[in-house]
Amino acid sequence: MFDTHELGRRPGALQRLTRTVRAPKDFGLQGVIGTPEGEPVELELRLESVMEGVLVTGTARARVEGECVRCLEPLERELVADFQEMFSYPDADDRGRSKQAEPADDAEDEDMTPLEDGMFDLEPVLRDAVVLALPMQPVCQDDCPGLCSQCGVRLADDPDHHHDAVDIRWAALQGLAGSLQDGEKDKKSGAEAGVDEEQEK
Ligand SMILES: [Zn+2]
Ligand SMILES: [Zn+2]
Repeated sequence: MFDTHELGRRPGALQRLTRTVRAPKDFGLQGVIGTPEGEPVELELRLESVMEGVLVTGTARARVEGECVRCLEPLERELVADFQEMFSYPDADDRGRSKQAEPADDAEDEDMTPLEDGMFDLEPVLRDAVVLALPMQPVCQDDCPGLCSQCGVRLADDPDHHHDAVDIRWAALQGLAGSLQDGEKDKKSGAEAGVDEEQEK
């Protein structure tokens, strides 16, 4: 929670602050990439007093961990996420509520998060900002070739990797499939011949 009492309610008042918070649980894209719980998240904040409340603009910096979606190699990054949120005074919020009959104001109200006793909770804002700044499909390097589809080896570690041996086996398998087909054809023609014989009797 952050306190806005020091900032005051005079519109135009500004306050800059930096703070380090601990990453909450599941901070990031769950199961893909994120900041491990308890790791430091550096915050740079700019609080600006406006008529309706406090406009908070900030940047979060944290280390994120995940794995490459192509080769599954662990990776880590420095994440920088920008965010901005309007925290409104409860009385300003009441004013908005009385105008709720107008649909245009409803949409505006949804963007406002109320201040509670001059305090605001940045965690939901941070979570959204971090998720937006993270790659949905993180890769260890832009041109990561991924894993060998036949043996699972990481191709970036072994650029000359290839599988001649499997090609031969595959050819043999195709040959086998071909002879099986021939065999079925033979059986079929034999059965047809049998029917013909019965009809002749
Ligand atoms: Zn990779
Ligand atoms: Zn391979």
